[in-house]
Parts: sequence; structure tokens; C-alpha cells
Amino acid sequence: MRIILFGAPGAGKGTQAKILSKQLNIPHISTGDILRSEIKKGTELGIKVKIRMDRGELVPDEIMGAIIKKIIRSKKTNAGLILDGFPRTAQQAELLWKIFQDLKLPNPILVVLDTKDELIINRLSSRRVCNNCLNIVNLLDIPIENECPNCGRKNSLVKRKDDEEKVIKNRLKVYHKQTKPVLDFYKDKTKEIFINAEGTVEQISKKITKKLEKLKI
Ligand code: AMP
Repeated sequence: MRIILFGAPGAGKGTQAKILSKQLNIPHISTGDILRSEIKKGTELGIKVKIRMDRGELVPDEIMGAIIKKIIRSKKTNAGLILDGFPRTAQQAELLWKIFQDLKLPNPILVVLDTKDELIINRLSSRRVCNNCLNIVNLLDIPIENECPNCGRKNSLVKRKDDEEKVIKNRLKVYHKQTKPVLDFYKDKTKEIFINAEGTVEQISKKITKKLEKLKI
């Protein structure tokens, strides 16, 4: 099964993708995580994309296209995948569609996490990234204060530069202008599930599972 998890930054794509990945036993591919890892390693690609990411701007389609082509063609995603953060422009959606057609893969399922901008701003202000393992958490959800629930490192949770309020507002602008048109591209092309993404992680996860089951997949 191939799922595209779609939604604004902070809608909960990463959290829900991780849950789905365990439930369905297919890899979670987050393009944001891939880029952050390149930055952490100090690679040429990481250096190239850092300024844009810090400002909340999108990384050029050509760079993202090359990354995604490699992933879709890799053995790791043979049995399926959950895409989180891709596609983010109509051009990326077109490219992804073409890769699927070329490889004769079944159409992806689009899972849309619907949120209001005010909720996003609230959620992202308490979001942190672990500077050791790059896991993303919300301070309101972690069991032990100042400890990464993934790797156990203490005092490693820091605010992402792009989660500063000014940058969040820019990312939301980018989302409405450049990313939302992706929905028009997929309309009538593939199965879509719309989820009201307000509520707890568990409530949202249950809604997604129920709707996916209804699709009999
Ligand atoms: P995310 O972790 O998905 O919120 O992504 C963080 C940042 O990485 C975004 O604000 C963009 O700068 C960059 N990024 C991630 N995925 C893409 C993509 N598909 N296209 C362009 N930029 C991306």
C-alpha cells in the first residue's frame, strides 16, 4: 500500500505516519527528516537546503524530485510506503504520478489531515526536535520532561528554527499558496480520505484506520 499523508506543517503528518508505518509494516518516508539529516551530517545537499528550510521556504522541485525518485525505486519501498511531506507542489505531484505510472505501481491513497491555522500555530509552538536522534515530539505529549522518548537523551529537545512563530506563519503561507494545489491535481485521480485532524493523537489515528479499512485495503 502506498499512502500520501497530506496536510499543513504541524497537522500531525509525522506522528500519524509513524503509527501507520507500524500498523501496516511499511516504511515512513519523511522528506523533511531526510533533509534535516543531511544538514546534521553537513553534506553538500544539507548546506544547499539549510537557509531555505530555516526560512520556511520550499526546497527546489529538482532537488526533491531526485530524492523521491531514488526512494520510490529503492527495494526498501517495494511493499509500499507512507509519504510524509511529499508532494508539496503541483509539479512534485505530477512527477510522483509519472514515476508511479512508469513503474506500473497502483495509485497512491491520499490521506488529508485537515486543520485550522490557529491550531497549527499553537501546536508548533510546543514542538521540539531531538538534536541527538532527530525525533520530533510535542512537549505536551512526552512522559518525562527534557528527555527524548525515542533515544532517551536528556536535555536534547530543541526548537526547530522553522518552528519560530514568524517562520511558522511563512510556512503556512507557502502551504496555502504552493502546496494546497496538490489537492486539485489528485482530485478524481485517486482515492482520498479527509480527516478532521483536531483531537488527540489516538483519536485521529483511529479515524484514519477506520476510513482506510472502509476502503477495504
Ligand atoms: P517538514 O519536516 O515536512 O515540515 O519539512 C521541513 C522543511 O523541509 C520544509 O519547510 C521545506 O523547507 C523542506 N521540505 C520538506 N519536504 C519538501 C518538499 N517535498 N518540497 C520542498 N521542500 C520540502
